[in-house]
Amino acid sequence: MLYIVATPIGNLKDITLRALEVLKQVDLIACEDTRHTKILLDHYGIQAPTTSFFQHNRITKAEHLLKLLKDGKSVALVSDAGMPGILDPGYNIINSAIKNNIPISVLPGPTALVNALVLSGKPAHKFIFEGFLPNRTQARRNRLKELAKLKYTLIFYESCHRILAALEDIQAVFGDKEIAVARELTKKFEEVKRGSAKAILESLKDQKPRGEFVIIL
Ligand code: SAM
Repeated sequence: MLYIVATPIGNLKDITLRALEVLKQVDLIACEDTRHTKILLDHYGIQAPTTSFFQHNRITKAEHLLKLLKDGKSVALVSDAGMPGILDPGYNIINSAIKNNIPISVLPGPTALVNALVLSGKPAHKFIFEGFLPNRTQARRNRLKELAKLKYTLIFYESCHRILAALEDIQAVFGDKEIAVARELTKKFEEVKRGSAKAILESLKDQKPRGEFVIIL
């Protein structure tokens, strides 16, 4: 069995009893970053062996993991934060397992987009999760213009390095529309700002933005 196990997006207490049980039992835990996952495993006294499974070794590592699974071993896949497969390398192994008729079980848990969407107060019955916007301003604005035609709540992931640039482009395309920016969800400095992109930009410019962000509009 390949277990896809959601892990906390900040607060170590946000893990299910079943996830802990599975992480204790499996033959191997495939982690995006073994050092990062070790913090969680140590916190709960879990000693299962770990191996790395990240963006640059995902193809060769997926083959190795697949072989273990075919030999009857159980493997748990975790990412650095949240649900594996949601914008992290999980997709490759999940897809290969399906093609190879290996049973998969997904253990539910945190994912930043859901927390941010609910916290934003925006309509959550129809939404589009866009992940990261393009790096470059022109490509970002073009994509935002395409998305602006749709009548859905939009969700973007953003890093502290690009949040200001992304908000400037959102302001250029969406004007005064009220948006929400959630930061450091479930962590000590969790915060949500609601207002126009311009107003949020102003409030963020006072100090260098820190942490991880989700934008909802
Ligand atoms: N697999 C993860 C999930 O289920 O949400 C997403 C991984 S993606 C590589 C990382 C991005 O998720 C960050 O840049 C940020 O936009 C968002 N993110 C993750 N944890 C967050 C948190 N605690 N607060 C705000 N955003 C977060």
